[in-house]
Amino acid sequence: MEKSERETTLQKLPALLLAWYDKNKRDLPWRENTDPYRVWVSEIMLQQTRVEAAKEHYIRFVRELPDVRALAACPEDKLLKLWEGLGYYSRARNLQKAAKIVAESGFPQTAEGWKKLPGVGDYTAGAIASICFEEASPAVDGNVVRVLSRVLADGREQETLKRGFAAELAPAYPAARRGDFTQSLMELGATVCLPASPLCLTCPLFSLCQTKSDALPRRKEKPQRRIFCKTLFLFCDGGRLALYRRTAGVLKGTYGFFSAERPMDNAQAEDFLRRAGLQNFALGAPLAHTHVFSHLEWHMTAYAVYSPEDAARLELPADESAEADFARLFYADKREIESRYSLPSAFRWALACVTPN
Ligand code: SF4
Repeated sequence: MEKSERETTLQKLPALLLAWYDKNKRDLPWRENTDPYRVWVSEIMLQQTRVEAAKEHYIRFVRELPDVRALAACPEDKLLKLWEGLGYYSRARNLQKAAKIVAESGFPQTAEGWKKLPGVGDYTAGAIASICFEEASPAVDGNVVRVLSRVLADGREQETLKRGFAAELAPAYPAARRGDFTQSLMELGATVCLPASPLCLTCPLFSLCQTKSDALPRRKEKPQRRIFCKTLFLFCDGGRLALYRRTAGVLKGTYGFFSAERPMDNAQAEDFLRRAGLQNFALGAPLAHTHVFSHLEWHMTAYAVYSPEDAARLELPADESAEADFARLFYADKREIESRYSLPSAFRWALACVTPN
């Protein structure tokens, strides 16, 4: 498509999309108003999380931390507990770092200002600046790339499109309702122009669209995820379980169970524990689970280890490796784990291997 033809097509988007958005927008908790704090929290949550999964977390989060000062002052354990289940915990840590800056110097009013804050990229900055401050700042995420690549029949690779579309779309922003225009594009991508089987017959852009199918955008092949095998041990003493706080990696600041860095069957697990110094114990039945991160997979087997001995006194055999020293383990009961310690889904599933007492 010629440049001038692309420009003309993009200029037609606001009228078509705004009329459609007024009738079809979803009722979402972060759309109640355009308070920058609330819009910002929702945009960060939605970066890697589906709308349905984010809703409940969002409501709880803003109820507990209703403004930027509350977020800035929140203890890390409480913050990560509120984030539990959303994954990608670095988002929560960056959100708080940025909140400390905003609590001091106020909310930025432009996309450029937002981009200077930790954890805020082009997309998020554009979304907040247009939704909250009516700036003509496009927010181009995967949904918007999908819609525009199809409308314009642009077969270039996604990352190239993302940068190009942001610049191309800015002049097409309407004089009013800029925030709604941003949201209407995202909404169309989320509800009509779906990755597979788009609902073209109900699409307000049907007459403009040059593709009318899921043939675009062109996807780059993802590198294969790296696989790690682990054996988790859930040391149980009465109703208490041994946990440790993770101090590095993607789950930094959250809590987990002791894990040895190799797969083990029952006999190997018992041998490992004996060599670590545990004498009096009973091993529960194994439970297997695979947890998939964006770039790696953990293939895990979990065992409950019922023992009155303190697991923090054990020593890792010299020929073994583990994510953390035994010495960092401490015991907490289930009520404390539920209310106080953030247990990410990468570990939470393993609770099912423990027999309730
Ligand atoms: S017509 Fe189909 S492919 Fe084109 S924008 Fe609409 S839903 Fe997407």
